[in-house]
Amino acid sequence: MTYAWLIDTTKCMACFDCVVACKDEYVDNAWLPYSEAQPATGQFWMNLVVNERGQLPGKIRVNNFPFLCNHCTTAPCQTAATGGAVYTRSDGLVIIDPAKSKGQQQIVAACPYNVIYWNATLGIPQKCTGCAHLLDNGWTQPRCVGTCPTGAIQWGTLATLQSQITALGAKVWHPEFNTGPQVYYVGAGAQGLVFIAGALYASSNDAAIQGATVTVTAGSTNLTTTSDIFGDFWVDGLAANTSYTVTITATGHTTVTKTVSTSSGSQDLGDIAMS
Ligand code: SF4
Ligand code: SF4
Repeated sequence: MTYAWLIDTTKCMACFDCVVACKDEYVDNAWLPYSEAQPATGQFWMNLVVNERGQLPGKIRVNNFPFLCNHCTTAPCQTAATGGAVYTRSDGLVIIDPAKSKGQQQIVAACPYNVIYWNATLGIPQKCTGCAHLLDNGWTQPRCVGTCPTGAIQWGTLATLQSQITALGAKVWHPEFNTGPQVYYVGAGAQGLVFIAGALYASSNDAAIQGATVTVTAGSTNLTTTSDIFGDFWVDGLAANTSYTVTITATGHTTVTKTVSTSSGSQDLGDIAMS
């Protein structure tokens, strides 16, 4: 059995409740043998960043990204540790042993996700334990999961979550690290994907064009959307560093075709006049 997290970043409103719940559980509280107390400042075993896609001035999208230890199946932190200081439980949770890891600062640097913190006072590396102490005492989920008001964080066995992971197209963070993360993410921003956006208006009278069909193609990719009442359109979930053909058709207007590169990320094409 392996526990996994399924985080839908499109449901995250950056309330930081999960971050605070983690702090409430661990700051000044030692849960041996899994963790010494977390210091009051400087460590975020559950963390959150707010990323923006696109460039100002122009259209941008905000992507809230909660993150924690990925409880990797091939964990570099475990490889870097000596004397069994990092181990994987039978439920897949990766634990840093507070006693055995004393003085092993190399464990911090070994994590490619930078989710391990060095406690200089105690001389130990620290991170998320998956609330192993709670699960051992009958809790049905870690604190971060139970506190999320939007259901953005789901948790359970990988077998239980697998159908949702597949259906939602959830992906792990930085799959190229090849560490076997057990935290899966939903959301274009969380998956490093980009958008192409713009706004359509009629050159004859400057009126916004609603209902235009915008198609974005490259290779086997073929995504279509419709402009809204303001003439705005967004095509999200595109790959970075790709050259796309954007074709815009609207009844009574001449078709517009553009070649757009996403080499610098998401692209706002700005106001587009249609004759
Ligand atoms: S995310 Fe980092 S700390 Fe967590 S198991 Fe993977 S390598 Fe270790
Ligand atoms: S508790 Fe849920 S909604 Fe709030 S920041 Fe965490 S993941 Fe996002």
